[in-house]
Amino acid sequence: MEENNVEMNGKYVNEETHARMKKKLKKAGKVLLILGLLVAATGIALLAFGISTDSLKHSTIGFIAGGGFMLVGGFGMCSVAGALFYVAHAREIAAFGASTIAPIAGETTNYLAEKTSPGVEKLADAIAKGVRSGGQKNEVSEDIKYCTKCGEKNHKDAQFCQKCGNKF
Ligand SMILES: [Zn+2]
Repeated sequence: MEENNVEMNGKYVNEETHARMKKKLKKAGKVLLILGLLVAATGIALLAFGISTDSLKHSTIGFIAGGGFMLVGGFGMCSVAGALFYVAHAREIAAFGASTIAPIAGETTNYLAEKTSPGVEKLADAIAKGVRSGGQKNEVSEDIKYCTKCGEKNHKDAQFCQKCGNKF
């Protein structure tokens, strides 16, 4: 029991660390995403303004060049933000997958094996019976009928059961 506690404490600390790291990455990603969108939006505005002025002055070219640069930079920042989000989630998946999900999956398997195997057997039985009776119904609807006395399969046109002689 003591070993389990130590292990659980270790896991808890790991999760705390990962949660903090994830929060930081997500926060940085959010800031970068907002900045990137702002820069990209400014770039689009500058580009639109530069193009709409319709004259090739130095300032116009400056607007277009600056706008284009900001647009590319803004999208670049958004990509970095996306990467940060991805890293945040990748860390989460890796950490939780290794330390949390695997033991839980193991426990669940054991739990299922110990507590539910009789139930599973019953369920399997029920399914098998269902399949059998379903099959019977299907066969009845085709060209077979079952003896009401002994359950033997008989041709639907048979007048007597081929096994017990029961009259249909
Ligand atoms: Zn019969």
